[in-house]
Amino acid sequence: MRIRFWGVRGTIPVPGPDTIRVGGNTSCIEVRTSDDQLIIIDAGSGIRRLGQMLQQETTGRITGNILISHTHWDHIQGLPFFSPALGRNNRFVLVGQKRVDKRLEEILAGQFIEPYLPFSYKTLPADLIVKEVNNGETIIIGENTSVQVAELEHPGGCLGFRIENDGVVFAYCSDTSHPDGGLNENVLRLAEGADLLVHDTHFTSMAERNKFSDWGHSAWLEAAQVAIEARVKALSLFHYAPDVTDDEVEEMLGRTRAVYPRTMMAREGLTVHLPLPQEVW
Ligand SMILES: [Zn+2]
Ligand SMILES: [Zn+2]
Repeated sequence: MRIRFWGVRGTIPVPGPDTIRVGGNTSCIEVRTSDDQLIIIDAGSGIRRLGQMLQQETTGRITGNILISHTHWDHIQGLPFFSPALGRNNRFVLVGQKRVDKRLEEILAGQFIEPYLPFSYKTLPADLIVKEVNNGETIIIGENTSVQVAELEHPGGCLGFRIENDGVVFAYCSDTSHPDGGLNENVLRLAEGADLLVHDTHFTSMAERNKFSDWGHSAWLEAAQVAIEARVKALSLFHYAPDVTDDEVEEMLGRTRAVYPRTMMAREGLTVHLPLPQEVW
């Protein structure tokens, strides 16, 4: 399985001199399975460059699944600028959760309207199929991949994903908080024994996390505790707050490694092949 990071930031894109090494685009990860299925996790602003790359590298039709953890803006705002959606023969299955009284398709289409954009969702030439999933459900992709979804702890709801492909496990738990003094059960279940866990590290300290405990995000220490408790093989920091500079992300990496040594720092352009060889650490 191959993982490539296209956007690692939360809340809003923040290009600039302080974010140049880690990257300023919002959440988007590309996953390639052993049978060459394309799975995109979240459609933050990072999906724009992924779309360009797919068009350059693919001859013929582009097909894939786009898993939407939730529809806060930093996880869907890149979708209108995902150029493969403008290709007539391309086909994408958008997987996510409906909100209380709104279908997922309606929510996604809601950002493609005048006066925000000059074109509508309905006029996109690609074949877009929306599949709603619920907590605890598992979907099958291609010949040998399953995706288990579970509800995390975030205002308005958010899904975490556990992708199992050919004996390799990749877990994505962004945008989640943990109960005071404990760890979210669904996060632990999704992460159990994963080759790589990508976990929300929006907050750079527990003091900050405690101050904004209703925001639905985690501090690096909680991510490290999940990694230990769920016996993952590697952890990646992810979903950095917009004001966190490259230097601060690197400091956070150092602190996390002191607790859980097999930690990496997600940054734009980073490619990871799973399973990771032992000597990486
Ligand atoms: Zn977010
Ligand atoms: Zn969110």
